[in-house]
Amino acid sequence: MIHAYLLQIAFIVVFFVIPGLVGGWIAWTKGRNPFLWFLLNTLFPPTLMVTIFQGPARAVPGRYRECPNCHEFSKWRETVCRFCKTDLAG
Ligand SMILES: [Zn+2]
Repeated sequence: MIHAYLLQIAFIVVFFVIPGLVGGWIAWTKGRNPFLWFLLNTLFPPTLMVTIFQGPARAVPGRYRECPNCHEFSKWRETVCRFCKTDLAG
């Protein structure tokens, strides 16, 4: 039954490997360990929600800036801290 086997592979790829890859990539953009999050999101796909909603681990050039005043993270395109309104552009 080669078709049933292929369906199982397709099922695993769609519901486990793809969330793992997406989660690994999102974790990487947030300065987190992409391999750790790839594994976590592959083994437990619901943890993809955690990966998406958690903040960045550090400032990532082009994606996140760390506020020098309150140490919260803002998106790169935001030039004013969204928490304390400190100017981030300078
Ligand atoms: Zn701030």
